[in-house]
Amino acid sequence: MSKQPYIKPTINKVEFAMASKYGSPMKTQKIRSEIDGVKVADLVDTFGSPIFVFSEKKIRELYSNLYSAFSSRYPDVQFGWSYKTNYLNAICNIFHDLGSIAEVVSEFEYQKARALGVEGKDIIFNGPYKPYEDLKIAVKEGAKIHVDNLFELNDLEKIADELGTKIKVAIRINMDTGIHPQWSRFGFNFESGEAYEAVKRMYDGGKLELNGIHSHIGTFMLDANAYKAATIKIMRLKEAVENDFGAVIEYIDLGGGFASKSHLKGIYQSPDVIVPTPDDYAEAITNAIYEMNKSDTLPKLYLETGRALIDEAGYLLTSVHGYKRFPDGKKGYILDAGVNLLYTSTWYNFNIELDKHYEGENEPSTLNGPLCMNIDVIEEHIMLPALDRGTVLSISPVGAYNYTQSMQFIRYKPAVVLIDTEGNPKLIKAVDDLETVNYKEI
Ligand SMILES: *Cc1c(COP(=O)(O)O)cnc(C)c1O
Repeated sequence: MSKQPYIKPTINKVEFAMASKYGSPMKTQKIRSEIDGVKVADLVDTFGSPIFVFSEKKIRELYSNLYSAFSSRYPDVQFGWSYKTNYLNAICNIFHDLGSIAEVVSEFEYQKARALGVEGKDIIFNGPYKPYEDLKIAVKEGAKIHVDNLFELNDLEKIADELGTKIKVAIRINMDTGIHPQWSRFGFNFESGEAYEAVKRMYDGGKLELNGIHSHIGTFMLDANAYKAATIKIMRLKEAVENDFGAVIEYIDLGGGFASKSHLKGIYQSPDVIVPTPDDYAEAITNAIYEMNKSDTLPKLYLETGRALIDEAGYLLTSVHGYKRFPDGKKGYILDAGVNLLYTSTWYNFNIELDKHYEGENEPSTLNGPLCMNIDVIEEHIMLPALDRGTVLSISPVGAYNYTQSMQFIRYKPAVVLIDTEGNPKLIKAVDDLETVNYKEI
């Protein structure tokens, strides 16, 4: 054992009042020694620390649960993988292998999908900002363009002129689904008539044809009924524009936003209790379509799945670098991963688990990252036994957004490992180095 630094002893109040049916907070330890049969400590030994780890088995399980909830109720369902939720190549490829098309919200993501071999026709192009030249490429390649605003509508008419063809497009709409705050900045509003007017404007122009209606009502939606409200409004607009303008709406797209099993700060109940099941979401959407459909055929149903299919498949392994005693007596651990890699720590309380059992009573501790920033706090208050340098903590669920939103700030972005369905860990992204981080010099 290496020599330990001297740290002044302190006396801590033992909080008996906190004991509950779950056991004493002075003793309870949450332990995760392995992921899909691979030892957490071995992953760090082999691939370094900190490191993101993804379980392919879990991704496939989450996908098939959600997909079968929809396909068992509805004949024509297609998932599109939301690239911004996690665009690691190996992750996107698993979703494409499972049958997902791509859902992108920028020219960068569009190019990424194309580079992964996804054809234009299998890309849904969303987002409020689509640069003209990139929009034109997407139109030429037959992508599904979801119009967000009138400026884009004008751009598309200009592109139709340039290419000398009519263009089929879909429209994004927003509406009151009973959820607050209401997301009203993307697409055209339903209740005010703005969405209907935008379609009228398309048909007046004679250059665009509407073939789809889309809405992404928000993220981490804890009320499946919001999707029922959204579906009803989409189907109403469908009927109106089919009757009034002769539009043929081939598909409707309910976006994403299904909640994952992460623990939102400020919500007391466990995610297992409050997060709707795949069946709840599927029931809400498909029943509303059946109820509202007036035509002989059913529209194709698209979903733009993100966090619900990846969050629980992702872990961040981080190691204790050292600790100190703060003036208030609390123990402050220094970890090698911080808010640079855990952007979502602002909203979620993660599961933080130890690699094995440690001797000794728990004491109030704080987990800080490696950044030279006072805000670099992963957990302000956590009961932990005395942990030595090198102890590996696993933080989950972190598969959604944390990698794509992680910052190259102060330290290099870490490596990423995927454990395949056979239980073999494979490096899918190396740790960055000076060369990958340095900008192109002119
Ligand atoms: C982000 C996004 C999604 C995926 O959202 P999740 O909350 O991760 O499911 C789907 N569609 C659009 C348009 C998005 O912007």
